[in-house]
Amino acid sequence: MTDKKTTKSIHKLFPVIRVMFSTAGKRYPWFFVLESAKTLVQTAQPFLGILVTPLLVDELCGQRDINKLAIYAAVLIMGECILQLLNERLNMTLQKYQERLDNYFSMQISLHSMGLDFQLTEDKAALDQLEKARTGMTWYSGGAYGIAEQIFMFLGNVFKIAGFVSVIALHAPILLIAILAYVAVNGLLTSRCNKVELLSYERLSKTNRLFSYFGWEIVNFRYGKDIRLYDARRMLVDKWEKYTEKNIAGWKWQSDHTYLYRLFQEAAGVVSTLVTYAYMGYLVIRGAISIGTFTQMVSTAGALSSTLSGLVWNVQELMKRCNYAYEYVLFMEYPEAIPKGCAPVPRGEHTIEFRGVTFAYPGTDKKVLDGVSITVAPGEHLSIVGLNGAGKTTFIKLLCRLYDPTEGEILMDGRSIKEYDYGEYMKQFAPVFQDFKLFGFSIRDNIAFGEQDDARLEELLKLVELDKMVGKLEKGLDTRVYKIFEEDGIEPSGGEQQKMAIARAIYKDTPVLILDEPTAALDPVAEYEVYRQFHTLVGGKTAFYISHRLSSCRFCDRIAVFADGKIAEYGSHEELANIPGGIYAEMFAAQAQYYK
Ligand code: ADP
Repeated sequence: MTDKKTTKSIHKLFPVIRVMFSTAGKRYPWFFVLESAKTLVQTAQPFLGILVTPLLVDELCGQRDINKLAIYAAVLIMGECILQLLNERLNMTLQKYQERLDNYFSMQISLHSMGLDFQLTEDKAALDQLEKARTGMTWYSGGAYGIAEQIFMFLGNVFKIAGFVSVIALHAPILLIAILAYVAVNGLLTSRCNKVELLSYERLSKTNRLFSYFGWEIVNFRYGKDIRLYDARRMLVDKWEKYTEKNIAGWKWQSDHTYLYRLFQEAAGVVSTLVTYAYMGYLVIRGAISIGTFTQMVSTAGALSSTLSGLVWNVQELMKRCNYAYEYVLFMEYPEAIPKGCAPVPRGEHTIEFRGVTFAYPGTDKKVLDGVSITVAPGEHLSIVGLNGAGKTTFIKLLCRLYDPTEGEILMDGRSIKEYDYGEYMKQFAPVFQDFKLFGFSIRDNIAFGEQDDARLEELLKLVELDKMVGKLEKGLDTRVYKIFEEDGIEPSGGEQQKMAIARAIYKDTPVLILDEPTAALDPVAEYEVYRQFHTLVGGKTAFYISHRLSSCRFCDRIAVFADGKIAEYGSHEELANIPGGIYAEMFAAQAQYYK
């Protein structure tokens, strides 16, 4: 993003404010009510001194009536105390909302990232946008809390300025011109600083992402084995240090480039104070105003110029903060990678057809699938075999609409899958991928994702032969997977993890089940066992079995042999095993020892 683009910020103000009020405003209405009360209190505070002090000073310089002096002093002190107490109390209550609002927006970002089209999880622009939304809606903008504070401060400042201008206009209107000149210079310098800060934020976006990747994500113990065995610790720490240095250099660049502006701001402040005192002193000497009015004018002039500068800073700060927070709006409105339909998906088993499907991953030219056509009947079990890299997983990703074909189309029950309601379509599939993940939740939540049908879960555990293992655990289904959070969490073996992932797929109770080589790490005989068991569990549902070995072929109605992105051979085991010189026949001959 260019400097020019980031500084044209006014149009970003309103979407951010709209989003804040329509979401956080509904969720936490009291926050906004209390902020309004605080603004009123803070607006009243300076006027107490401005209006009462001159009376006190003139009384001291004139009649010195003890009763009047006592009343003025009492109003001043009591009023100040009450307003201060109110302000403190409101501040204390309001601070509680900071964390609530931060959590609320972090949750919105997380929810939205989990629902993003899968293909965007590999898209650099989308990932950068996510990072910008995260940092933009927290540190940089001060979050919704920080933005709301600025909005209310702005309103308070407008009220105060109206009052100060009225007071000064009564006795020394010329002073208003000097104050305005100072504020204009100050505003210009603040605006320069803000431009530099925005530019610095843009420059640091990628570094920050790498910084948090090396610093935090990689420490996740899932990487633990590889880090230890390949002794990657030093390299990771070096990289973290490198990005820390880059980060620090970024901040230094920012402060170097704003230093002069800040210096000039200080100088302008000194000149403005000098001018005020000189002019007011002149008016007193000429007898145009009293000493009380002198103090009133000097303090009001000071208050006006600082409030005006505050207002300019306020507007710029608000725009700057909204610019950062606008990244959140952009992320929440990030364009979908694949179009979504709204047709309902027919109930029951489905006929699935790939019609001339060609696919290259976004940003690449290589056709991973090239004109693939195949029809799978309801309840059919299809085995997809082929060497690594032949395009088997890609075929499944397209079927599950994690990506859309580059050419051709996929149909379910005769209708393009693009026309179906996306959420409902996704509910038709329960895949177990090669890189399936278990979470640091309880066993129950890993399988049922929050549902509480224990009878069904136990039945399933028996089917996948995990019942004995779970039966031995003190907390049973409530035992946590992994030890990240609890000492008595379990570290399931590779085989047990697969069984849990399979139980999860079966629990989902979908018309189509997919086993995409979650067994690649097993030996052929153990893999054969997993597929045999899965075959029994799947029963009459449609199933896809994927493997670079032939473990599953015996259980399937048909076999599709993938080679170079095409279906090179297709038929039953008997048909393919008898094609002289065929890929399948050769694979079978090489692996037959395991399956006889
Ligand atoms: P298989 O499941 O048969 O082993 P895949 O479908 O996983 O093969 O991969 C087919 C080809 O697509 C491989 O060359 C692989 O490198 C490439 N590929 C897989 N995923 C991606 C991706 N996200 N981006 C780019 N290329 C990919």
